[in-house]
Amino acid sequence: SKPTNHLHILMIPLLAPGHTIPMINMATLFAKQPNITVTIVTTPVNAIRYGPNLQSHINAGLPVRFLQLPFPSIENGLPDGCESADLVPGLHLLPNFSAAVDMLQQRLEQRFDSIKPRPNCVVSDKFMLWTDDTARKYRIPRIVFDGMSCFKQLVTYYLYAHKVFDELGELEPFVLPGLPDRIEITRAQLPPEFNYTRMATSEQLERVRETEARAYGMVVNSFEELEQEYVKEFKKLKEGKVWCIGPLSLSSEKDLGETLRGDGIDDEQRYLKWLDSKERGSVVYACFGSSSRVTPPQLIELGLALEASKSPFIWVIRAGDRVEEVENWLSESGFENRIKDRGMVIRDWAPQVLILSHPSVGGFLTHCGWNSILEGVSAGVPMITWPQFAEQFLNEKLIVQVVGIGVSVGAPVVVHWGEEDKFGVTVKSEQVKTAIERVMDMGSEGNERRKKAKALGMVAKKALEEGGSSHNNLTLLIQDLLQLSDVASQKSST
Ligand code: UDP
Repeated sequence: SKPTNHLHILMIPLLAPGHTIPMINMATLFAKQPNITVTIVTTPVNAIRYGPNLQSHINAGLPVRFLQLPFPSIENGLPDGCESADLVPGLHLLPNFSAAVDMLQQRLEQRFDSIKPRPNCVVSDKFMLWTDDTARKYRIPRIVFDGMSCFKQLVTYYLYAHKVFDELGELEPFVLPGLPDRIEITRAQLPPEFNYTRMATSEQLERVRETEARAYGMVVNSFEELEQEYVKEFKKLKEGKVWCIGPLSLSSEKDLGETLRGDGIDDEQRYLKWLDSKERGSVVYACFGSSSRVTPPQLIELGLALEASKSPFIWVIRAGDRVEEVENWLSESGFENRIKDRGMVIRDWAPQVLILSHPSVGGFLTHCGWNSILEGVSAGVPMITWPQFAEQFLNEKLIVQVVGIGVSVGAPVVVHWGEEDKFGVTVKSEQVKTAIERVMDMGSEGNERRKKAKALGMVAKKALEEGGSSHNNLTLLIQDLLQLSDVASQKSST
């Protein structure tokens, strides 16, 4: 038979901004290569949220499109339209959300035979467990999108292999086993696999591990120069079936975050004008991602630190269902009035990539979500790190200790979803202020860090250009997939 020379990839993201945004960026990256069509499987609400961005690529002739599956919200006791984890009104409803996500399997399989051309590969989020089953049923390879660093992968691998922390107390530091660098952490800072949370059961996490191991390989949103030693080690473990093709946020000229909320263009212009009025490298941008819910008392500590630091700042506040408490403080304490000349509060959602790439921004106070980290790295901005949950403490270690472009505020424990109040205020405003000042400082320590961050930002951009590491890895991955589907089609024709 004729060799296969065309790939049709089904991309299936987890329905949460931190997972969907990078996958849509990845879809456009693939679709720009010759002979590749990409179909992104999602739901109507998400197709509307991310549609405007994709439409501009479709208009430019890219073979990329959405396949929309109705989302069983109401049947699962969710209000209509709760098709994304960040739209779920209360965290107690996350199990319902996850049950609804599982029902998408049947909905996709009902449609599968009518998808043309027949898909010959699935790239899906590691948390979309059922996609492993579907890929098997239709005899096509599944590539896992993990959405986190090779550093995280390696740490997890070695922690499973050597449960060195079993006998230790929650706050007792120990050295992460097996790594090329000496890095200390505490049990209270480990990701959910080692630190059970209500977000996912250990059984679910075990299934993530199993399905990940069964997949053909893994695409990683990272670039080799960022974590060289760790990429090398992880590739060894996975027998080469690892492809770093990031930073994916650089694959698109448009910032996907922009289109998600707010009045869009008008707000954007207002932010940019405000930034234009500030000195180069002087502004701190503070944002905790899409799903963290920081308690009002802890938010107040952050606000006071921003105020005390004397740097101009943009502060993105997502208060969720406690918005009233936060608004009361903002107005009653006189905070907004006191800072009005040098601070800007953005409620709910900011065009992050756009803001980070403005030359006035000189520091990024981040919750260390992996996308945010990569966006900061790509923009060449040093970071003030304040991890909250999941693998964010590991991302902090990578940025502060291995890469050396961040200063930690010193957060001590993972804040579990739904347990935000349990620990009260864990980070004092004085600590945050000190970290901000160290990053924004114009002395030699600050300059050194700034220079490093800037240089790394250039390397990140190069990685995606022709001849760059991520670009080469993408080419290799595509060749590999073409060969696989060629073998498959020869098998099926004999
Ligand atoms: N984001 C944004 N504006 C916001 C908050 C988040 O554009 O106000 C984007 C951000 O640029 C990133 C994603 O949402 O691409 C958040 O992903 P990350 O992995 O940093 O954190 P998560 O939300 O998954 O905790």
